Amino acid sequence: MKYFERINEYIAGNILFPLSNYFLNRKNILSNYRKFIESEWYPEEWLRDVQLKKIIKTLEYANSRVPYYMKIFKEIDFSPKDIKQLDDIKMLPTLTRQDVIEYYKEMVDTRFQSSIRIADNSERGLGEPISFAGFRKHKLVRNTSSGSTGAPTIFYENGSITSSNWANEMRMRSWYGINPGAKEMRMARISTEFMQKNRTLLMRKYLWNQLILPGTNLSDTDYEICYRSVRKFRPKVFWGFTSALSGFAEYIENNGKDISQLRPQLIITWAAPLYEHEEKKLKSVFGCPVTNIYGAREVGHIAAICPQGSFHINQESLFVETDDVNGDYGGNDVGEILVTTLENTPMPFIRYRMGDVGRVSSSDCSCGRSLQVMKEFLGRTGEIFITRDGRMISPNFWCRTFMNDRIAKAFKRFQVIYRRDGNICIKLVRKDNNSYEAESLLKEFLKKNFHSDIKVDFDYVEKIEPRISGKYQMVINEAKNN
Ligand SMILES: [Zn+2]
Repeated sequence: MKYFERINEYIAGNILFPLSNYFLNRKNILSNYRKFIESEWYPEEWLRDVQLKKIIKTLEYANSRVPYYMKIFKEIDFSPKDIKQLDDIKMLPTLTRQDVIEYYKEMVDTRFQSSIRIADNSERGLGEPISFAGFRKHKLVRNTSSGSTGAPTIFYENGSITSSNWANEMRMRSWYGINPGAKEMRMARISTEFMQKNRTLLMRKYLWNQLILPGTNLSDTDYEICYRSVRKFRPKVFWGFTSALSGFAEYIENNGKDISQLRPQLIITWAAPLYEHEEKKLKSVFGCPVTNIYGAREVGHIAAICPQGSFHINQESLFVETDDVNGDYGGNDVGEILVTTLENTPMPFIRYRMGDVGRVSSSDCSCGRSLQVMKEFLGRTGEIFITRDGRMISPNFWCRTFMNDRIAKAFKRFQVIYRRDGNICIKLVRKDNNSYEAESLLKEFLKKNFHSDIKVDFDYVEKIEPRISGKYQMVINEAKNN
């Protein structure tokens, strides 16, 4: 059995997966993967040198082909030759999500403009990626990502971002001893009905060893379907939105499902931070390591957690820095995360504001990999509350508070809302009506951490609705209009 499993993994991971991706214009997946599992051990200076060379190449390309950047560079009298070291990139302005929404067409290589027109006239809805068939000439994919406010960002890529994502994902799996081609279950943005009759999904199952399951707005019926399919397919890896996988774990736990037939070796969460309480739940239900991918559709996978718990940055594919020009985050290199894409893509992103707060540091991880590490990853810019004495309250503070045994016993769910007037409202979904003790304990915690003239209200609700994107938001900052 083991022998057949190895052959099956080898064929899927080394032949069928890279070959079919090649025809989708996602080239060099395997060769990049092989390079990446070596370069992650190279000296820090080597990695920075590679980044510098790729940044200069990206800037030269932007300067000769991308109208948006041609204009900006001219305005500030910048030439890619001015870049002598990585820090010199700070000469350039940052790119906001709003800029991308407004100028996305000018952000693409001029030679691709006719393909963009075809893509934009396509009958498919905005949220759906458009296949290559219609515009073979440039092999362009239109993609969108929905923000918390609902306005979609439209962007284009030629397959190179997807290809580097795959290579980086394969590398991350190798950290946990998972080979390319190992069976995987992926909870994606599809519905149960779509699942039944789609040919792409069949292809992914039989050629790539990937079982695609629904991953948003799941009901108990959906979870039951997932449970049964997973039992049959027996994947080594569970992959999905953080919310979907924790929901799946809860469903299994609450319904006393037999998991002796489900033996994942790794759980990969993505598209949202993995909070401590979710990590604890996943580990206790499935009994295996849990990792998290940090990234965005526009720029790709930025970082992932290694078995020793560090968030390693995919330095060969992206350059990551932080920005705190307004001094909002108290110095020490903590700031908003900015990303520059290093792949050859017709739509380069340069110093793109991720909307998350953290710090980038050299690796000091005990795993020994040289890839930079993301530290003090505090969450979305709007989710951080700064107290009067200058302390930062990150979403993890709330998560830890609600992990207290007595509090966790009383409440099913919570949501913290920072009001415009500086006060705080906490929405609570009770488990039963005996929450008096937990509530006074909660008040005590709050008294210790917040100034006494900040008013904290409790609002008991039946249910907390997810955002438009389907994700559950733990903290909402009305003052920052996130
Ligand atoms: Zn590490």
